[in-house]
Formats: sequence, structure tokens, C-alpha cells
Amino acid sequence: MKAVVYKGPFEVAVEEVPLPTIQHPADVIVRITSSAICGSDLHMYEDRTAAKAGLRFGHENMGIVEELGSGVTVLKKGDRVVMPFNVACGSCLNCQTNKTAFCTNVNEGFAGGAYGYVAMGPYHGGQAERIRVPFADFNALVLPPGSEHEADFMMLADVFPTGYHGCILSGLKPGESIAVWGAGPVGLMAAYSARLMGAADIYVIDRVPERLALCKKFDGIPIDFSKGDAVDAILKMRGGKEVDRCVDAVGYQAVTQDGKTEQVNIVLNQMVRAVRACGGLGIPGLYVPTDPGASDEHAKLGQLMFPFGKFFEKGLSMGTGQANVKTYNRQLRDLIVAGIAKPSFIVSNEVGLSAAPDAYVKFQKRVEGYSKVILKP
Ligand code: NAD
Ligand code: ZN
Repeated sequence: MKAVVYKGPFEVAVEEVPLPTIQHPADVIVRITSSAICGSDLHMYEDRTAAKAGLRFGHENMGIVEELGSGVTVLKKGDRVVMPFNVACGSCLNCQTNKTAFCTNVNEGFAGGAYGYVAMGPYHGGQAERIRVPFADFNALVLPPGSEHEADFMMLADVFPTGYHGCILSGLKPGESIAVWGAGPVGLMAAYSARLMGAADIYVIDRVPERLALCKKFDGIPIDFSKGDAVDAILKMRGGKEVDRCVDAVGYQAVTQDGKTEQVNIVLNQMVRAVRACGGLGIPGLYVPTDPGASDEHAKLGQLMFPFGKFFEKGLSMGTGQANVKTYNRQLRDLIVAGIAKPSFIVSNEVGLSAAPDAYVKFQKRVEGYSKVILKP
């Protein structure tokens, strides 16, 4: 079968690879109908990780169940399913307390597994014609049959629940105000989730006009930080009043006003300024750990400066980490089915699998019209 394979920095290819097979009674094989490219794939594509050539990309996957392991009891052949990007066992302490992003059973004792991702276990990605889904009854969410809402449901694999998780981490309550840093897929989904959760004022900060324009879909207030300090702009609009909640959907690759200079802790600093005393910060944006053996550059990134004194003085709370996609995806699916949520408004285009190398180039360069790409094998 064909699959998107990492070749090295800034290069993927579509190559012939062996078909996946059932390796455990709890596995299923899914024929992929949609697989999205994610901002997180760029961490590997741009050579900031230890990803090795040969890795098959793709952690946002959906399709049709084609083959069942002998121990599968819930899924049936022909079911349309979407897989949370997290691979989870369903029975460790973290899985049983809804922290499926921190499963301790799927990645040699490390907390957390994912498809097609470096250091997240031995699971091939789904930017391919087929994928093996382990612990499948737990890891696949069944969708209504047919092809309706395909692009909406595709967003359930990662960015919609991840954005929603950002709001939950921030402690958002109905009627509160929130500022979201980043209008990439995760930031837009966080701001959109805030709307679904009943937020009042929703500010979205970025410097890419095409992305900020999407705020209109949910009455968000765009803030272009290339034009000036984002926190000053928010406080000015609010007569000096801080917001209740902040979400960081940018992570360690935050850039300064010029759009070029990376400054790892810029968003964290701004959030601590922008939030009211006793407010909350949700951080789904990725920060790299300083694991033993990390390069000097990564070790520096992991030891970022955080304004803890101000954080303490204001009595703030903070939530971080990978999104526990499974914890939210059932309700978010049903909001889509009910016609209340339509997260596919962030999808810019859909292309065949063979167009993946070109799509990666354009997505990485933030070419207009390539903000969220779905690959259709
Ligand atoms: P993206 O790169 O498409 O979007 C990030 C956006 O942030 C860009 O539009 C960029 O212009 C903007 N930005 C840069 N510097 C900024 C600043 N100083 N202020 C405001 N905006 C700024 O990425 P994405 O796919 O939306 O993902 C966002 C982050 O979330 C990434 O770090 C990704 O790895 C992470 N992520 C986390 C999870 C999770 O489970 N926690 C899941 C998916 C993605
Ligand atoms: Zn993703």
C-alpha cells in the first residue's frame, strides 16, 4: 500500500510499504478515508525531533473498519470510525481516570502513545491506505455510517478535542472572557469551543490575516500582534480589565512581533499579564521536555523562564499537556451530528495521498489556502 514516509528534514515521500496486519487480538485494521496533516507533524518535518527516516506520519485518522482481531467485541466490519491521536490501553490508572493521553501501557512505560510520532510508541501513522489500531474497542469512536460530515468528524481525531481541552484546562465557565494565543487549527478550535461552552468575549491572537479572518465564523475578536503588543490591545478594548481565562495554542515556537525571532516563553509571559487574579491558563501548545540525552538546544528550550512570581501573586491556576481526546470526542461527535458544531470551517483543502509531499511544503511555508489539509487516500 501507499504511505507518507519521512525521508529527512523538510522531505516526505509517498512510498510503497507493507500492509499492516493484526498483531494482537484487540487490533483492527482500518481502511483510511481521511487523514489530516497537523502542526505537530511539522515538529518532525522541520527536524526538531529525533524522528528517523522511514517513520510513517499521520496521527489524525479516520476510515472504515476492514479486519477484526479475534478479541474485538464492540467494533464491526464496515463501521465508520475516527481514532483519537492518542493510543491508549483503556485499563491503566490514567486511562481509567480519563487521562488517556498519559496511558502508561502503550509506550514502554512512558506516559503517552500516538500514531506516526517519534517517541510515542511503535504505531505507524495513518497518512496511508490502511492503519493498525491497537486496543481498538477503546481507541476507535464509531461514527454514523455514510459520508456525511466527513471533514467535521476528521477534526475529532485531534484539533477539536485539543482545542476544547485547552478551554477545560483554563477552567472556562459560561459567561467568562477568554483570550486564545494562536489562530492555527488548535487555537481556532479552542476559541470555537469557548463559544460552544458559552464564553462571552473571545479574543484570538495571531499575525496571519487568513487565520484571524476565520474568527468571524464564531464572533471571535481578532488581535493582530504584528501591529502591536497583544495584551495592551486586549486591555485597551476592555477598559483595562483583564480576561478570565487564557489558552496558549502556540507553544515553544512563539515568534515576536517581527514574525521571525522565536522567543519560547513569550506567550506564557503575555498570558500571566492578560489574565485576572485567580483566573486560569490552559496550555495545549507544545513545550519540549529536557529528557536525559536531549540536545543542548532542546535542553535550553525545556528550561524556559516562566514569570512564576506574578503567577503566584495573582493566585493563578494552570493546566497543561496532551489532550485526552477520548474524554471529549463522544460529546463533540454528537454536537456535530446534532448540527450544533461544524469544526470543518478550518479545513482549507483536501488532496489525494500522492499530493502529500507538495502539501507538506505548502503547509510548512504557511502558503495561503494550506492551513488545514486533509489527505484522501
Ligand atoms: P500552528 O503552527 O498551525 O499554529 C500556531 C499559530 O501560532 C500560528 O498561526 C502562528 O502564526 C501563531 N503564533 C506564533 N507566535 C505567536 C505569538 N507570539 N502570539 C500569538 N500567536 C502566535 O499549530 P497548531 O496545529 O494550531 O498547533 C498549535 C500547538 O498545539 C503546537 O505546539 C502543536 O504541537 C500543539 N498541539 C498540542 C496538542 C495537545 O494534545 N496538547 C495536540 C495538537 C497540537
Ligand atoms: Zn495533530
